[in-house]
Amino acid sequence: MIQKNRFEYEEILPVIRLFEYPKKIIITTHFKPDGDAMGSSLAMYNYLIAKGHDATVITPSDYPEFLFWLPGNDKVIEYPKNKELAAKLFSEADIIICLDFNQPNRTETLEEVITTSKAKKILIDHHLHPASFCDYTFSYPLSCATCELVYQFIVAMDDSNIINKDIANCIYCGIMTDTNSFRFETMTADTHRIIADLMDKGAENYKIHENVFDNFSFDRMKMVGFCMYNKLQMIPQFKTAFISLSKEDLEEFESTTGDTEGIVNIALAIKDVKLAAFFYETPKCIKISLRSKGSFSVKEMAQKYFEGGGHRNASGGKAFTSIEEAINLFVSILPEYRDELLK
Ligand code: 5GP
Ligand code: MN
Repeated sequence: MIQKNRFEYEEILPVIRLFEYPKKIIITTHFKPDGDAMGSSLAMYNYLIAKGHDATVITPSDYPEFLFWLPGNDKVIEYPKNKELAAKLFSEADIIICLDFNQPNRTETLEEVITTSKAKKILIDHHLHPASFCDYTFSYPLSCATCELVYQFIVAMDDSNIINKDIANCIYCGIMTDTNSFRFETMTADTHRIIADLMDKGAENYKIHENVFDNFSFDRMKMVGFCMYNKLQMIPQFKTAFISLSKEDLEEFESTTGDTEGIVNIALAIKDVKLAAFFYETPKCIKISLRSKGSFSVKEMAQKYFEGGGHRNASGGKAFTSIEEAINLFVSILPEYRDELLK
């Protein structure tokens, strides 16, 4: 049996009223959106269009090509590529729906336009400690993915009959990517039941896995080989492994947005490794991905040392230093976590 829906009827009632008549709605998500961010945004988009609303997804940046198959992707507006149209749509919007982020600065380029907008704002998210910048905040950090919450939102709106193949495919994609293919501890029996319902509604599990995981360029696969053979480093005394890619490395493999996704998992897959890190150089900063196994939490490390955050087993952050300095900082803080790492 599916457990209680996270969206309580009393809490969602004002939102049901808000959506009673056709509205101009913007759906937005975090900078460099991932599978959950785009899956939840496009699931919401397809749902609202089916309800007769005028909805648009506006992303604060580009996103990986392996997500372009998502239904409705051709209608997405990337803010940096179409600033004028995006600004106009924001100024006319009745409602802004914020998905898969907890702080407005996670949108980077859209922070100001979101926080200063007069539109009613709704947040649906699964990161801890949401900032209070929305009129309606639905924050459920125990949920494995924002896509799971969008499913429960639609059900709570009494619209489960609207979930068609397109919406089911979008929701499946986000749950799959945020749970690393249904393997994280956040993946509950209930989420499996939601997945089963999505398949009943037409989600094409085999196609989604292929689109997301078997869709890399030849150069990207060579880059993975380079990471494994030349760049993987192990610090056995702290059960830690890490990989780094400089601007030159990324250029050599003609890396594009999304090519670095998943590389941190190579380091985490080593036997006995509890903590894995991946550093790569971007034009603005060094991006850091942190992953862990079991009870060791990377969230605090991301917050304390890398201006970031996230979840217990998957967090990220950034450093405004050289890549060598970022790695040195990471290695220098490991003794602080010794007891937890060696537990
Ligand atoms: P990734 O390593 O895949 O970039 O990010 C993993 C998770 O860490 C994301 O789902 C997100 O929750 C969090 N995260 C990544 N980068 C940042 C960041 O710069 N700031 C914050 N607050 N969280 C981040
Ligand atoms: Mn997410």
